[in-house]
Amino acid sequence: MMQVFMPLNFLGFVYREMKGAMTNIENMFAVMDVEPGVVDREGATALAVGDGEIRFHDVHFGYGDTRDIIRGVSFTVPSRQKVAIVGSSGAGKSTLFKLLFRFYDVSSGDITIDGQSIRQVSQTSLRQQIGVVPQDTVLFNTSIFENVRYGRIDAGDEEVREAIRLAYLSDFIASLPKGEHTMVGERGLKLSGGEKQRVSIARALLKHPPIMVFDEATSSLDSHSEKIILKAISDISHQQTTLVIAHRLSTIMDADRTIVLDNGQVAEQGSHVELLARGGLYAHLWDVQQHESGSIDRLN
Ligand code: ATP
Repeated sequence: MMQVFMPLNFLGFVYREMKGAMTNIENMFAVMDVEPGVVDREGATALAVGDGEIRFHDVHFGYGDTRDIIRGVSFTVPSRQKVAIVGSSGAGKSTLFKLLFRFYDVSSGDITIDGQSIRQVSQTSLRQQIGVVPQDTVLFNTSIFENVRYGRIDAGDEEVREAIRLAYLSDFIASLPKGEHTMVGERGLKLSGGEKQRVSIARALLKHPPIMVFDEATSSLDSHSEKIILKAISDISHQQTTLVIAHRLSTIMDADRTIVLDNGQVAEQGSHVELLARGGLYAHLWDVQQHESGSIDRLN
């Protein structure tokens, strides 16, 4: 996967933006990918997160054409639980994430966090409460240490080191020629997909939002990296409400609940064991992936 490096003048812009709004950097790049259009309602209040329960209530949505991409989706992510969303390519998984961040408004139905409709609250407050670990992480031309600090620009050095430790990056960083001062970027170190994702996890840990969203990398990581990342996600999900888009069912067997999306609808939901026992779409996908593992180790 291509590494993304940002020029320094852009970095300055990002820094100022972050100091101003404390916007999560990953969110900001995601925002830039999507046409602006959603505006805060007049007098929008700040989202107040307590337990961090997310609910999709009969959500319908289409991207402006006549076809509805999301068709009556309802599910709950209870506080401090881990819920996975799976389904074949084009089923609508990423679209659900975009709706949760309110990059688009639902056509009907509602999405609530601790009972507050996300349409009623300011977008800044909504995005401040959600940490994102995207498939591909944006890295800057600076040290690996400062790259982690972008998760929360005013974090102290010890807090950054703690996040590095919790994201299982310490051994990797210790092995680098200049340790935490090793430069990342065009003339510096190139990180593997798994290492980049751990930088992203460390940033999210530093931000410590009540809600965490992971977009599992579609390309297979080596099994050592994957194990480490799964361990970090599992640690986090005991403390924070966690939503994961997964492409490999083997990575989310421990989720409290898995939502199986098919053509914009919830086909089935339950734990890994319940879904296997049902013998439906999940069980079918599981069989397919078991046969494919080692070759094409993903859903689509
Ligand atoms: P994948 O696993 O391949 O990432 P997905 O389940 O995440 O797929 P989505 O990306 O949510 O699926 O896409 C669902 C449908 O919405 C697809 O048919 C896709 O072509 C369509 N779609 C996605 N983004 C847009 C957009 N910006 N405008 C119009 N259609 C879109």
